[in-house]
Amino acid sequence: MTHGDGTRSVWAGEEHPLWERSTQVPIAQTVSFGYGDVDEWMAVALGEEEGHIYSRNTNPTVAVFERRIAALERAEAATAFATGMAAISGTLRTLLGPGDRVVSVTDTYGGTTKLFLEFLPRDGVICELVGTDDHEAIETEVAKGCKVLYLESPTNPTLKILDLERLAAAGRAAGATVVVDNTFATPINQRPLELGADLVVHSATKFLGGHADALGGIVCGGQGLVDRIYHYREINGATLGPFAAYLLQRSAKTLHLRIERQNSNALTIARHLEAHPAIDRVFYPGLESHPHHDIAARQMKGFGGVLAFSIHGGLDAVKAVLPRLQLAHLAANLGAVETVAGPPATTSHVEMTAEERAAMGIPESLVRYSVGIEDVEDLIADLDQALEAAAG
Ligand SMILES: *Cc1c(COP(=O)(O)O)cnc(C)c1O
Repeated sequence: MTHGDGTRSVWAGEEHPLWERSTQVPIAQTVSFGYGDVDEWMAVALGEEEGHIYSRNTNPTVAVFERRIAALERAEAATAFATGMAAISGTLRTLLGPGDRVVSVTDTYGGTTKLFLEFLPRDGVICELVGTDDHEAIETEVAKGCKVLYLESPTNPTLKILDLERLAAAGRAAGATVVVDNTFATPINQRPLELGADLVVHSATKFLGGHADALGGIVCGGQGLVDRIYHYREINGATLGPFAAYLLQRSAKTLHLRIERQNSNALTIARHLEAHPAIDRVFYPGLESHPHHDIAARQMKGFGGVLAFSIHGGLDAVKAVLPRLQLAHLAANLGAVETVAGPPATTSHVEMTAEERAAMGIPESLVRYSVGIEDVEDLIADLDQALEAAAG
């Protein structure tokens, strides 16, 4: 298929005609699928014929969402999960067993870091987390041999950038399966499989869904790997439900438009805040001042809808500014059509102590600001009035 991202967002994954000739994807809100013919039922159960048996395994509404995101990521296959964390833990547990080594970085999403530090070691998996800024140190760890190289870029919440093409090459040379969490970028801005990764994982809860009303996760990649992860999921049971799948595939139809707007809003706001006297530092890969701006410019089409900034005056200033924002939910999610703001202590790194956050270079004066699709002039005016009122 040679279609562009907009066409794929709208059409990919729909097989027409749909049920009763509806033009829109129906919600197959059903646990199971009935068969009048036992031979046919058995053929579907054995995978010899197409069809669905039981919704923990497969469901037609979920399948549309899987095909749509696979098409956007240029992947052969995809399998959807109940949440992003279910997708990430299902992927890692499929690939890793006792004695296996996984190399990752210190700045992965907070829940993912917990998997590496708390849960995977219990199963005898050796987890090596390297400083996110040090590409050479990551390559050195990978070259020692590992089963999985797990990457995330841009990272949460300080928007660090990893050179995915360079690190995927290192991972492949070591015989590792390379997994990339592409939640912050989305396939509109960055396509890790084209940069050499084997698997892409998403929290669909964020930009893919985009409306903060459905949880979900998805893994995309080659058929063989995705089949293994699907098998883990069908038994482990963290399946995406049909109603959430309906919402997510519907929202994906506007993904390209939302991301283009969020990219441009975020860049304009980042530039504005960088020049603002109340702001200590702005973290956004689209700024020339970002230490890895050149890598981001090479591997991303746009720089994404999330930025972070630290305010002069520390946590007290954060507590004064945030409640004064009128055009932002103070909440833990991101990637929605509405602007969402919050400190890492209550969002990405809620699982960590203040000391752990400090050790990771996440200041308590930091605000994560997920830019929505509002008019950028209104968001800038809102930020300015909140910063001014808090200072005065
Ligand atoms: C939110 C998030 C996750 C976890 O997703 P859930 O849907 O909340 O389970 C994983 N990775 C990143 C980068 C995220 O932002």
